[in-house]
Amino acid sequence: MSWLQRMRACWREEHPAIVTDEERISYAELTQRIRRAAGWLGAMGLSRGDVVALQMPRTPAFLELHLAALGTGVVTLPLNETYPPRELRYYLEDSGARLAVVLADNAPELRDLDTRIVPAGPGLRAELDAADPMDLPDALDDDTIAMVLYTSGTTGRPKGALLTHDNLRACVEGLHQAWRWSQDDVIVHALPLFHVHGLFVAQHGALRAGATARWMSRFDPARALDLLQNDGGTVFMGVPTFYSRFLALPGDRRWTLDGVRLFTSGSAPLPARDHQAFEARFGHRILERYGMTEVGIVLTNPYEGERRPGAVGFPVPGADVRVFDVQTGQPAEPDQVGEVRISGPSVFQGYLGRPDATAAALEGGWMHSGDLGFVDGDGYIHIVGRSKDMVLSGGLNVYPSEVEASLLEHPAVSAAAVVGVADPDLGERVVASVVTAMGAVVQPDEMRA
Ligand code: AMP
Repeated sequence: MSWLQRMRACWREEHPAIVTDEERISYAELTQRIRRAAGWLGAMGLSRGDVVALQMPRTPAFLELHLAALGTGVVTLPLNETYPPRELRYYLEDSGARLAVVLADNAPELRDLDTRIVPAGPGLRAELDAADPMDLPDALDDDTIAMVLYTSGTTGRPKGALLTHDNLRACVEGLHQAWRWSQDDVIVHALPLFHVHGLFVAQHGALRAGATARWMSRFDPARALDLLQNDGGTVFMGVPTFYSRFLALPGDRRWTLDGVRLFTSGSAPLPARDHQAFEARFGHRILERYGMTEVGIVLTNPYEGERRPGAVGFPVPGADVRVFDVQTGQPAEPDQVGEVRISGPSVFQGYLGRPDATAAALEGGWMHSGDLGFVDGDGYIHIVGRSKDMVLSGGLNVYPSEVEASLLEHPAVSAAAVVGVADPDLGERVVASVVTAMGAVVQPDEMRA
Protein backbone atom coordinates (compact mmCIF):
# COMPACT_ATOMS: atom_id res chain seq x y z
CA MET A 1 0.00 0.00 0.00
CA SER A 2 1.36 3.48 -0.77
CA TRP A 3 2.27 5.71 2.11
CA LEU A 4 -0.36 8.13 0.85
CA GLN A 5 -3.09 5.47 1.15
CA ARG A 6 -2.00 4.72 4.70
CA MET A 7 -2.04 8.39 5.67
CA ARG A 8 -5.51 8.79 4.17
CA ALA A 9 -7.00 6.24 6.57
CA CYS A 10 -7.92 8.88 9.16
CA TRP A 11 -8.76 11.87 6.98
CA ARG A 12 -12.11 13.45 7.82
CA GLU A 13 -13.56 15.08 4.71
CA GLU A 14 -14.52 18.48 6.07
CA HIS A 15 -11.68 18.78 8.56
CA PRO A 16 -8.99 21.35 7.65
CA ALA A 17 -5.78 19.72 6.40
CA ILE A 18 -3.74 22.81 5.54
CA VAL A 19 -4.39 26.37 6.63
CA THR A 20 -2.22 29.13 5.17
CA ASP A 21 -2.46 32.90 5.46
CA GLU A 22 -4.53 32.83 2.25
CA GLU A 23 -6.58 29.64 2.28
CA ARG A 24 -8.06 26.78 4.21
CA ILE A 25 -7.91 23.41 2.50
CA SER A 26 -10.12 20.61 3.81
CA TYR A 27 -9.15 16.97 3.48
CA ALA A 28 -11.86 16.53 0.82
CA GLU A 29 -10.37 19.42 -1.16
CA LEU A 30 -6.82 18.15 -0.65
CA THR A 31 -7.87 14.73 -1.95
CA GLN A 32 -9.33 16.33 -5.08
CA ARG A 33 -6.19 18.38 -5.60
CA ILE A 34 -3.96 15.32 -5.21
CA ARG A 35 -5.99 13.52 -7.86
CA ARG A 36 -5.64 16.48 -10.23
CA ALA A 37 -1.90 16.74 -9.54
CA ALA A 38 -1.63 13.02 -10.30
CA GLY A 39 -3.44 13.67 -13.57
CA TRP A 40 -1.01 16.50 -14.33
CA LEU A 41 2.03 14.31 -13.62
CA GLY A 42 0.58 11.64 -15.90
CA ALA A 43 -0.05 14.21 -18.63
CA MET A 44 3.59 15.28 -18.33
CA GLY A 45 4.55 11.71 -19.15
CA LEU A 46 5.58 10.55 -15.67
CA SER A 47 4.91 7.05 -14.48
CA ARG A 48 5.98 4.71 -11.69
CA GLY A 49 9.70 4.94 -10.90
CA ASP A 50 10.30 8.28 -12.66
CA VAL A 51 11.83 11.06 -10.57
CA VAL A 52 10.15 14.45 -10.23
CA ALA A 53 12.28 17.20 -8.63
CA LEU A 54 10.46 19.93 -6.74
CA GLN A 55 12.16 23.24 -5.99
CA MET A 56 9.11 25.21 -5.01
CA PRO A 57 8.06 27.96 -2.65
CA ARG A 58 6.07 26.94 0.38
CA THR A 59 2.74 26.59 -1.41
CA PRO A 60 0.03 23.93 -1.41
CA ALA A 61 1.08 23.10 -5.00
CA PHE A 62 4.29 21.59 -3.61
CA LEU A 63 2.40 19.30 -1.27
CA GLU A 64 -0.16 18.35 -3.91
CA LEU A 65 2.57 17.26 -6.33
CA HIS A 66 4.53 15.44 -3.65
CA LEU A 67 1.46 13.53 -2.44
CA ALA A 68 0.30 12.81 -5.99
CA ALA A 69 3.72 11.34 -6.72
CA LEU A 70 3.49 9.21 -3.58
CA GLY A 71 0.06 8.04 -4.66
CA THR A 72 1.21 6.96 -8.12
CA GLY A 73 4.67 5.51 -7.46
CA VAL A 74 6.53 8.52 -8.89
CA VAL A 75 9.67 9.34 -6.87
CA THR A 76 9.95 12.84 -5.41
CA LEU A 77 13.14 14.81 -4.94
CA PRO A 78 12.47 17.96 -2.89
CA LEU A 79 15.10 20.66 -3.31
CA ASN A 80 16.14 23.62 -1.20
CA GLU A 81 14.77 26.94 -2.45
CA THR A 82 18.18 28.58 -2.18
CA TYR A 83 19.92 26.27 -4.67
CA PRO A 84 21.14 28.23 -7.70
CA PRO A 85 21.00 26.72 -11.22
CA ARG A 86 24.53 25.35 -10.97
CA GLU A 87 23.60 23.17 -7.98
CA LEU A 88 20.22 22.22 -9.41
CA ARG A 89 22.01 20.96 -12.48
CA TYR A 90 23.96 18.51 -10.29
CA TYR A 91 20.87 17.15 -8.53
CA LEU A 92 18.86 16.80 -11.72
CA GLU A 93 21.66 15.05 -13.58
CA ASP A 94 22.65 12.80 -10.70
CA SER A 95 19.07 11.69 -10.01
CA GLY A 96 18.13 11.39 -13.69
CA ALA A 97 14.99 13.41 -12.90
CA ARG A 98 12.50 13.29 -15.73
CA LEU A 99 10.68 16.44 -14.72
CA ALA A 100 11.67 19.35 -12.47
CA VAL A 101 9.50 22.14 -11.16
CA VAL A 102 11.96 24.91 -10.26
CA LEU A 103 11.76 28.52 -9.13
CA ALA A 104 10.94 30.62 -12.18
CA ASP A 105 14.25 32.56 -12.05
CA ASN A 106 16.22 29.32 -12.31
CA ALA A 107 14.31 27.79 -15.20
CA PRO A 108 15.99 29.54 -18.17
CA GLU A 109 19.48 28.34 -17.23
CA LEU A 110 18.43 24.69 -17.11
CA ARG A 111 16.79 24.35 -20.51
CA ASP A 112 19.67 22.39 -22.03
CA LEU A 113 19.24 19.45 -19.60
CA ASP A 114 17.50 16.18 -20.47
CA THR A 115 15.09 16.93 -17.59
CA ARG A 116 11.88 18.68 -18.59
CA ILE A 117 11.78 22.01 -16.73
CA VAL A 118 8.57 23.68 -15.51
CA PRO A 119 8.70 27.02 -13.68
CA ALA A 120 6.83 27.18 -10.35
CA GLY A 121 4.27 29.97 -10.13
CA PRO A 122 0.76 31.02 -11.16
CA GLY A 123 0.99 29.24 -14.52
CA LEU A 124 1.61 25.90 -12.81
CA ARG A 125 -1.20 26.56 -10.31
CA ALA A 126 -3.61 27.15 -13.18
CA GLU A 127 -2.46 23.95 -14.91
CA LEU A 128 -2.95 21.91 -11.73
CA ASP A 129 -6.42 23.34 -11.22
CA ALA A 130 -7.38 22.51 -14.79
CA ALA A 131 -5.87 18.98 -14.88
CA ASP A 132 -8.07 15.92 -15.29
CA PRO A 133 -8.28 14.08 -11.95
CA MET A 134 -6.78 10.62 -11.87
CA ASP A 135 -7.75 7.67 -9.68
CA LEU A 136 -4.92 6.68 -7.38
CA PRO A 137 -3.92 3.02 -7.46
CA ASP A 138 -4.60 1.09 -4.24
CA ALA A 139 -1.85 -1.42 -4.67
CA LEU A 140 1.68 -0.19 -4.46
CA ASP A 141 4.35 -2.42 -3.05
CA ASP A 142 5.73 -1.22 0.32
CA ASP A 143 9.24 -1.61 -1.10
CA THR A 144 8.62 0.85 -3.94
CA ILE A 145 11.05 3.76 -3.82
CA ALA A 146 9.12 6.83 -2.68
CA MET A 147 11.74 9.56 -2.43
CA VAL A 148 15.33 10.45 -3.10
CA LEU A 149 16.76 12.99 -0.65
CA TYR A 150 20.23 14.43 -1.07
CA THR A 151 22.54 14.46 1.89
CA SER A 152 26.29 14.37 2.27
CA GLY A 153 29.10 13.05 4.35
CA THR A 154 32.49 14.68 4.16
CA THR A 155 33.37 13.05 0.92
CA GLY A 156 32.63 15.32 -1.98
CA ARG A 157 29.17 15.92 -3.30
CA PRO A 158 25.79 15.14 -1.78
CA LYS A 159 24.41 11.66 -2.37
CA GLY A 160 20.80 10.69 -3.05
CA ALA A 161 19.39 8.63 -0.16
CA LEU A 162 16.69 6.26 -1.41
CA LEU A 163 13.65 5.78 0.84
CA THR A 164 10.77 3.37 0.25
CA HIS A 165 7.11 3.85 1.11
CA ASP A 166 7.67 1.57 4.07
CA ASN A 167 10.63 3.70 5.25
CA LEU A 168 8.35 6.76 5.26
CA ARG A 169 5.69 4.82 7.14
CA ALA A 170 8.15 3.57 9.75
CA CYS A 171 9.59 7.05 10.24
CA VAL A 172 6.21 8.52 11.14
CA GLU A 173 4.46 5.54 12.75
CA GLY A 174 6.77 5.34 15.78
CA LEU A 175 6.45 9.08 16.41
CA HIS A 176 2.68 8.94 15.96
CA GLN A 177 2.50 6.67 19.00
CA ALA A 178 5.34 8.20 20.98
CA TRP A 179 4.06 11.77 20.68
CA ARG A 180 0.31 10.96 20.98
CA TRP A 181 -0.71 12.59 17.69
CA SER A 182 -4.50 12.93 17.31
CA GLN A 183 -6.97 14.14 14.69
CA ASP A 184 -7.61 17.22 16.78
CA ASP A 185 -4.01 18.41 16.74
CA VAL A 186 -3.08 21.67 15.06
CA ILE A 187 0.60 22.00 14.29
CA VAL A 188 1.98 25.48 13.70
CA HIS A 189 4.37 24.64 10.90
CA ALA A 190 7.28 26.90 9.99
CA LEU A 191 9.96 24.36 8.96
CA PRO A 192 11.19 23.98 5.38
CA LEU A 193 9.23 21.40 3.41
CA PHE A 194 12.23 20.18 1.42
CA HIS A 195 13.85 18.64 4.53
CA VAL A 196 13.05 15.52 6.57
CA HIS A 197 12.14 17.58 9.64
CA GLY A 198 9.52 19.77 7.96
CA LEU A 199 8.26 17.21 5.48
CA PHE A 200 8.26 13.89 7.37
CA VAL A 201 8.15 14.73 11.04
CA ALA A 202 5.84 17.74 10.84
CA GLN A 203 3.82 17.38 7.63
CA HIS A 204 3.57 13.61 7.20
CA GLY A 205 3.05 13.41 10.95
CA ALA A 206 0.02 15.71 10.70
CA LEU A 207 -1.35 13.94 7.61
CA ARG A 208 -0.94 10.51 9.21
CA ALA A 209 -3.00 11.75 12.15
CA GLY A 210 -5.63 13.51 10.03
CA ALA A 211 -4.69 16.67 11.93
CA THR A 212 -4.38 20.28 10.76
CA ALA A 213 -1.16 22.00 9.69
CA ARG A 214 -1.23 25.78 10.12
CA TRP A 215 1.53 26.89 7.77
CA MET A 216 3.60 30.00 8.28
CA SER A 217 5.07 31.45 5.10
CA ARG A 218 8.32 31.93 7.02
CA PHE A 219 9.34 31.58 10.65
CA ASP A 220 8.69 34.68 12.74
CA PRO A 221 8.95 34.01 16.49
CA ALA A 222 6.30 36.45 17.74
CA ARG A 223 3.84 35.43 15.04
CA ALA A 224 4.41 31.72 15.73
CA LEU A 225 3.50 32.30 19.38
CA ASP A 226 0.48 34.40 18.34
CA LEU A 227 -0.74 31.50 16.17
CA LEU A 228 -0.19 28.98 18.95
CA GLN A 229 -2.10 31.19 21.35
CA ASN A 230 -4.95 32.34 19.09
CA ASP A 231 -5.42 29.74 16.34
CA GLY A 232 -5.81 26.60 18.42
CA GLY A 233 -2.22 25.42 18.02
CA THR A 234 -1.40 22.27 19.98
CA VAL A 235 2.00 21.28 18.59
CA PHE A 236 5.11 23.18 17.52
CA MET A 237 8.27 21.73 16.01
CA GLY A 238 11.46 23.68 15.65
CA VAL A 239 15.18 23.63 15.10
CA PRO A 240 17.17 24.97 18.07
CA THR A 241 17.51 28.33 16.30
CA PHE A 242 13.72 28.80 16.49
CA TYR A 243 13.98 28.39 20.25
CA SER A 244 16.87 30.84 20.61
CA ARG A 245 14.75 33.33 18.65
CA PHE A 246 11.78 32.81 20.99
CA LEU A 247 14.10 33.49 23.88
CA ALA A 248 15.42 36.67 22.23
CA LEU A 249 11.92 38.23 22.13
CA PRO A 250 11.53 41.25 24.41
CA GLY A 251 11.02 40.07 27.99
CA ASP A 252 7.82 42.09 28.53
CA ARG A 253 5.93 40.20 25.79
CA ARG A 254 3.68 37.48 27.24
CA TRP A 255 1.73 34.63 25.63
CA THR A 256 -0.73 32.14 27.09
CA LEU A 257 0.28 28.78 25.73
CA ASP A 258 -1.94 26.51 27.83
CA GLY A 259 -3.50 24.94 24.72
CA VAL A 260 -0.15 23.74 23.42
CA ARG A 261 0.66 20.15 24.38
CA LEU A 262 4.02 19.65 22.68
CA PHE A 263 7.11 21.61 21.65
CA THR A 264 9.80 19.53 19.96
CA SER A 265 13.34 20.32 18.85
CA GLY A 266 15.70 18.54 16.50
CA SER A 267 18.06 18.65 13.50
CA ALA A 268 20.84 20.05 15.68
CA PRO A 269 21.71 20.02 19.38
CA LEU A 270 19.47 22.12 21.61
CA PRO A 271 21.67 23.78 24.23
CA ALA A 272 20.62 22.69 27.73
CA ARG A 273 20.71 26.40 28.64
CA ASP A 274 17.94 27.16 26.09
CA HIS A 275 15.91 24.14 27.22
CA GLN A 276 15.88 25.49 30.78
CA ALA A 277 15.34 29.13 29.79
CA PHE A 278 12.38 28.16 27.57
CA GLU A 279 10.69 26.32 30.40
CA ALA A 280 11.27 29.21 32.79
CA ARG A 281 9.81 31.74 30.39
CA PHE A 282 7.11 29.85 28.45
CA GLY A 283 6.19 27.08 30.90
CA HIS A 284 6.83 24.16 28.52
CA ARG A 285 9.54 21.53 28.57
CA ILE A 286 10.84 21.05 25.05
CA LEU A 287 10.99 17.44 23.86
CA GLU A 288 14.27 16.93 21.99
CA ARG A 289 14.62 14.19 19.40
CA TYR A 290 17.32 12.98 17.01
CA GLY A 291 17.38 11.65 13.48
CA MET A 292 18.89 11.91 10.06
CA THR A 293 17.78 11.76 6.45
CA GLU A 294 18.87 8.13 6.03
CA VAL A 295 16.88 6.79 9.01
CA GLY A 296 14.19 9.32 9.89
CA ILE A 297 13.67 10.12 13.55
CA VAL A 298 14.91 7.32 15.77
CA LEU A 299 15.52 8.79 19.23
CA THR A 300 13.16 10.83 21.33
CA ASN A 301 12.80 12.06 24.86
CA PRO A 302 9.73 10.65 26.58
CA TYR A 303 6.34 12.30 26.07
CA GLU A 304 5.46 11.37 29.62
CA GLY A 305 8.40 11.27 31.98
CA GLU A 306 11.49 13.41 32.17
CA ARG A 307 12.51 15.36 29.06
CA ARG A 308 16.16 15.66 29.87
CA PRO A 309 18.07 18.78 28.72
CA GLY A 310 21.09 17.86 26.60
CA ALA A 311 19.80 14.32 25.89
CA VAL A 312 17.97 12.93 22.86
CA GLY A 313 16.27 10.15 24.77
CA PHE A 314 15.37 6.61 23.79
CA PRO A 315 14.68 4.68 20.55
CA VAL A 316 11.23 5.36 19.08
CA PRO A 317 8.99 2.27 18.80
CA GLY A 318 10.35 0.04 16.01
CA ALA A 319 13.89 1.44 15.92
CA ASP A 320 17.00 -0.18 17.34
CA VAL A 321 19.65 2.41 18.24
CA ARG A 322 22.92 1.58 19.98
CA VAL A 323 26.26 3.17 20.70
CA PHE A 324 29.30 1.22 19.49
CA ASP A 325 32.94 1.45 20.45
CA VAL A 326 34.51 2.51 17.13
CA GLN A 327 37.81 0.73 17.82
CA THR A 328 36.47 -2.68 18.84
CA GLY A 329 33.12 -2.63 17.01
CA GLN A 330 31.50 -3.85 20.26
CA PRO A 331 28.61 -2.11 22.08
CA ALA A 332 29.99 0.72 24.23
CA GLU A 333 29.76 0.69 28.02
CA PRO A 334 27.40 3.16 29.75
CA ASP A 335 28.88 6.69 29.63
CA GLN A 336 31.49 5.61 27.07
CA VAL A 337 31.44 7.73 23.89
CA GLY A 338 31.07 5.81 20.64
CA GLU A 339 29.29 5.96 17.29
CA VAL A 340 25.49 5.95 17.20
CA ARG A 341 24.24 3.18 14.89
CA ILE A 342 20.70 2.43 13.82
CA SER A 343 18.76 -0.50 12.42
CA GLY A 344 15.07 -1.02 11.83
CA PRO A 345 12.36 -0.52 9.23
CA SER A 346 13.03 3.21 8.73
CA VAL A 347 16.63 2.68 7.55
CA PHE A 348 17.09 3.74 3.90
CA GLN A 349 17.92 1.50 0.95
CA GLY A 350 21.22 3.08 -0.05
CA TYR A 351 22.65 6.00 -2.01
CA LEU A 352 21.57 6.27 -5.63
CA GLY A 353 24.37 4.99 -7.88
CA ARG A 354 26.93 4.82 -5.01
CA PRO A 355 27.39 1.17 -4.01
CA ASP A 356 30.63 1.84 -2.14
CA ALA A 357 29.20 4.65 -0.02
CA THR A 358 26.11 2.51 0.62
CA ALA A 359 28.16 -0.47 1.74
CA ALA A 360 30.23 1.72 4.07
CA ALA A 361 27.17 3.41 5.58
CA LEU A 362 25.30 0.13 6.15
CA GLU A 363 28.22 -2.07 7.14
CA GLY A 364 27.25 -4.97 9.37
CA GLY A 365 23.53 -4.23 8.98
CA TRP A 366 23.63 -0.98 10.96
CA MET A 367 23.43 2.57 9.64
CA HIS A 368 26.64 4.26 10.76
CA SER A 369 25.47 7.76 11.63
CA GLY A 370 28.87 9.36 12.06
CA ASP A 371 27.49 10.95 15.23
CA LEU A 372 29.23 10.37 18.53
CA GLY A 373 27.23 9.79 21.67
CA PHE A 374 26.87 7.87 24.90
CA VAL A 375 24.15 6.21 26.96
CA ASP A 376 23.80 7.64 30.47
CA GLY A 377 23.06 5.64 33.62
CA ASP A 378 19.28 5.98 33.04
CA GLY A 379 19.44 4.84 29.42
CA TYR A 380 19.09 8.27 27.81
CA ILE A 381 21.29 8.72 24.73
CA HIS A 382 23.32 11.94 24.47
CA ILE A 383 24.92 13.22 21.25
CA VAL A 384 28.32 14.81 21.85
CA GLY A 385 29.59 15.62 18.39
CA ARG A 386 30.11 14.37 14.90
CA SER A 387 32.87 12.27 13.59
CA LYS A 388 32.03 13.58 10.15
CA ASP A 389 32.99 17.10 9.32
CA MET A 390 29.73 18.99 9.00
CA VAL A 391 28.52 22.37 10.25
CA LEU A 392 24.93 22.65 11.46
CA SER A 393 23.81 26.24 11.04
CA GLY A 394 20.22 27.05 11.91
CA GLY A 395 19.37 23.34 11.64
CA LEU A 396 20.70 23.04 8.09
CA ASN A 397 23.78 21.10 7.10
CA VAL A 398 26.72 23.00 5.65
CA TYR A 399 29.53 20.88 4.27
CA PRO A 400 32.91 22.60 4.66
CA SER A 401 34.30 20.86 1.60
CA GLU A 402 31.63 22.48 -0.59
CA VAL A 403 32.19 25.97 0.78
CA GLU A 404 35.94 25.58 0.42
CA ALA A 405 35.57 24.47 -3.17
CA SER A 406 33.48 27.54 -3.89
CA LEU A 407 36.00 29.92 -2.24
CA LEU A 408 38.80 28.37 -4.22
CA GLU A 409 37.09 29.36 -7.45
CA HIS A 410 38.06 32.98 -6.72
CA PRO A 411 41.30 33.75 -8.55
CA ALA A 412 42.81 35.59 -5.55
CA VAL A 413 42.34 32.62 -3.16
CA SER A 414 45.10 30.07 -2.94
CA ALA A 415 43.84 28.07 0.06
CA ALA A 416 40.67 27.91 2.14
CA ALA A 417 39.58 26.12 5.28
CA VAL A 418 36.04 26.18 6.66
CA VAL A 419 34.93 25.31 10.17
CA GLY A 420 31.86 25.76 12.36
CA VAL A 421 32.08 27.88 15.48
CA ALA A 422 29.53 27.93 18.26
CA ASP A 423 26.88 30.60 17.82
CA PRO A 424 24.11 31.32 20.33
CA ASP A 425 21.53 31.92 17.61
CA LEU A 426 22.36 29.57 14.74
CA GLY A 427 23.95 26.82 16.84
CA GLU A 428 26.97 27.04 14.61
CA ARG A 429 28.17 29.73 12.25
CA VAL A 430 30.36 29.10 9.22
CA VAL A 431 33.84 30.61 9.46
CA ALA A 432 36.27 30.55 6.57
CA SER A 433 40.00 31.20 6.67
CA VAL A 434 41.52 32.00 3.31
CA VAL A 435 45.06 32.48 2.12
CA THR A 436 45.27 34.92 -0.74
CA ALA A 437 47.53 34.46 -3.72
CA MET A 438 50.78 36.39 -3.51
CA GLY A 439 50.10 40.12 -3.32
CA ALA A 440 46.33 39.86 -3.82
CA VAL A 441 43.98 41.81 -1.56
CA VAL A 442 40.34 40.67 -1.19
CA GLN A 443 37.57 42.13 0.90
CA PRO A 444 35.59 39.87 3.27
CA ASP A 445 32.33 40.87 1.53
CA GLU A 446 33.66 39.55 -1.74
CA MET A 447 34.40 36.20 -0.06
CA ARG A 448 30.94 36.09 1.51
CA ALA A 449 29.31 36.72 -1.87
P1 AMP B 1 19.82 15.57 8.34
O1 AMP B 1 20.14 14.33 7.58
O2 AMP B 1 19.85 16.81 7.51
O3 AMP B 1 18.53 15.46 9.10
O4 AMP B 1 20.98 15.77 9.41
C1 AMP B 1 21.22 14.75 10.34
C2 AMP B 1 22.23 15.16 11.34
O5 AMP B 1 21.73 16.21 12.17
C3 AMP B 1 22.56 14.05 12.30
O6 AMP B 1 23.48 13.12 11.77
C4 AMP B 1 23.10 14.80 13.50
O7 AMP B 1 24.45 15.14 13.29
C5 AMP B 1 22.27 16.08 13.47
N1 AMP B 1 21.19 16.06 14.47
C6 AMP B 1 19.87 15.83 14.28
N2 AMP B 1 19.18 15.93 15.43
C7 AMP B 1 20.09 16.22 16.39
C8 AMP B 1 20.01 16.44 17.81
N3 AMP B 1 18.84 16.44 18.47
N4 AMP B 1 21.17 16.68 18.48
C9 AMP B 1 22.35 16.71 17.82
N5 AMP B 1 22.49 16.52 16.50
C10 AMP B 1 21.37 16.29 15.78
